[in-house]
Amino acid sequence: MTAFAGKVAIVTGASSGIGAATARLLAERGAAVVLAARREEAIAALAEEIARAGGRASHIRTDVSDAGEVAAMVACAVETYGRLDIAVNNAGIGTQVHSILDLPDDYWDRVQATNLKGNFLCLKHQARAMLAAGHGGAIINVGSVNTFLGCPGAAAYCASKAGPLALTTSASAELAAQGIRVNLVCPGVTDTPMHHEIKANLGPEAFEGMKAQTHQRRIGDPAEIARAIAFLASDEASFITGTTLTADG
Ligand code: NDP
Repeated sequence: MTAFAGKVAIVTGASSGIGAATARLLAERGAAVVLAARREEAIAALAEEIARAGGRASHIRTDVSDAGEVAAMVACAVETYGRLDIAVNNAGIGTQVHSILDLPDDYWDRVQATNLKGNFLCLKHQARAMLAAGHGGAIINVGSVNTFLGCPGAAAYCASKAGPLALTTSASAELAAQGIRVNLVCPGVTDTPMHHEIKANLGPEAFEGMKAQTHQRRIGDPAEIARAIAFLASDEASFITGTTLTADG
């Protein structure tokens, strides 16, 4: 399938889990992909894997909470491939469990800096590049079922994932006239390193409870979230902007 032939995409948090699965899928479907994350070895290895499979990928070490690094990430896409059509803002953290009564301030700050400010910085620089080129584009932010649902022990994470909903709808309203669509994908529990860490912190009983709450009685595979993201990135979703696609079984 070559739905993304000629398109250029950035995927943040591409070093593992949902981001890696999304980068593989967009590349398989013809996009040139810029892989961004802090662990450079992991994104370099994924870029090689994509190239071996016949795709096109570059990587750039990026901390999404740093405005200069985010600007460099977007410049990398434009300088390497000449344009930016698709941006997937997936980088995220938030595995610690703390009662709101003793939630450490520095943990709160780190989670907001990555999940909320990082989303804002990426969106700003990506939209600027798309506007400058004048060809429109698709931006997909990654929220969570916790965008809507509070969870005991996870106030910092839930707050950081509620913000991207407002960012998505505001940016969508501002940018629609210039042909830029902005949507939010909200995954449920998905089998990634982040999830395994949460499971270890919460214990097996809480994990079984999470599975039991889904209609399908299972957790998701990262490739299933990647397909939801790819749908919103594609022309199939040309009349869809400012909305949320929940993928949670
Ligand atoms: P992973 O831990 O596997 O992936 C998280 C990714 O984010 C990694 O590639 C990590 O790379 C990157 N990252 C973290 N901090 C930064 C930073 N400051 N700058 C750049 N990259 C960063 O988890 P998932 O794949 O599960 O998570 C992906 C997204 O999906 C997150 O936003 C998460 O909140 C969301 N989500 C996940 C769910 C799940 O059950 N798995 C459920 C709902 C939402 P590196 O460490 O190399 O920087």
